[in-house]
Amino acid sequence: MSFRDSEFVTGLLLDSGFALADSMENADIIIFNSCSVRKHAEDRLISNISDLKLLKKRRPGLIIGLMGCTAQSYKSKILERLPILDFSCGPGNESDIPGIIKDILENRGIIVATDKIDQMRPELFPAYREDRYKAYVSIGEGCNNFCSYCIVPYVRGRERSRVAKDIIKEVKDLAGRGFKEVMLLGQNVNSYGKVTSLAGLNAKTYNFVHLLEDINSIKGIERIRFMTSHPKDASTELFKAMRDLEKVCEHLHLPLQSGSDRILKLMNRSYTAKKYMKTVEEYRKYVSVGSVTTDIIVGFPSETKNDFGKTVKMIKDIEFDGAYMFKYSPRPPAKSSGLKDSVSREDKEKRLEALINLQCEISLKRNELLTGKVFDVLVDGENKREASKFTGRTGTNKVAVFDGSKDMIGRIVGVKIESVTPHALKGRVV
Ligand code: SF4
Repeated sequence: MSFRDSEFVTGLLLDSGFALADSMENADIIIFNSCSVRKHAEDRLISNISDLKLLKKRRPGLIIGLMGCTAQSYKSKILERLPILDFSCGPGNESDIPGIIKDILENRGIIVATDKIDQMRPELFPAYREDRYKAYVSIGEGCNNFCSYCIVPYVRGRERSRVAKDIIKEVKDLAGRGFKEVMLLGQNVNSYGKVTSLAGLNAKTYNFVHLLEDINSIKGIERIRFMTSHPKDASTELFKAMRDLEKVCEHLHLPLQSGSDRILKLMNRSYTAKKYMKTVEEYRKYVSVGSVTTDIIVGFPSETKNDFGKTVKMIKDIEFDGAYMFKYSPRPPAKSSGLKDSVSREDKEKRLEALINLQCEISLKRNELLTGKVFDVLVDGENKREASKFTGRTGTNKVAVFDGSKDMIGRIVGVKIESVTPHALKGRVV
């Protein structure tokens, strides 16, 4: 989502007559996009911006701006921590950035814009995209789930869905420009349309599956992905659509967070481990070749060895294709920040390491089952690590590495898998 926001603001600025600089040192305006989901990201942001003090001293005309969740979280208080900022702008105000910069160029004031947290963004379609074949398309903003560890509802506001016809217009435009794959983005894509009325429609008449069906019929688009699904909203209807709609990729990212019901309750996740397991079983029943990935937090307040053991068991039982795993860190004002951060740093680190090692073994085992099979791979480009190799993704979102040629970039080719690692499939084009 943050990537798409950066791309969107870049596009707005290009359309307003600005140009991309070739380096930070040569730039007249430097904008940092920020994530506050984990404290570590926030600490790095503060240190990276503070590092520009000398540059700003040498070039007082330099404009330094902050956008994203940290800007929203701290509002004007961010200026106490980062006095070198010229502007700070929350996610809801990002469409205003070209105007904010022009204002600063004319008046040299400091601007903090965080008042549009719950508003729909204006429907602007800047042409700029970082990739030529794959595009991120936001279908909604904000979240109403209030998972107790999560800052998102406080910095991205209440859940609101974009009107379907605007999304479809954007995807048709992308298809017309040669894009092959769209990734539909939202904090909880499965609840699309449930909260916000969609220009007179509601979830009974138009929901996420209807949106998938409409996008599936757009000529030129060959692949549809989506992220993120919440286990409480991922439905049989969705899994049937994933089975039946030929362009919808067979990959489900379904954050588990913990295998302990006690911790899930404290996290306010609205499902139990058993219910989660059933959801995955149902998905695999309908999308038998599908992959499943997840997110896990270790060391949530009061997580015992026993709770952690339940997470380990879930990971072993489900055998995810991949997992993003994190150490818990309190994110005020999220509710869990009021709980004692009781698991020591050492224990969090040990638990995280154990899970990463376990998941590596499982990912390798899952990938080994694919040796000898042929997959459709959308070719991204040359492999940065191995000369003469190319890389792309399977429909199941696995990275494939193979001998290829530049003319394959942006095309879907068949790749026969000859060897695997936990994180990639290696093969040859057939
Ligand atoms: S579903 Fe939970 S974790 Fe995801 S954005 Fe919403 S509050 Fe945060």
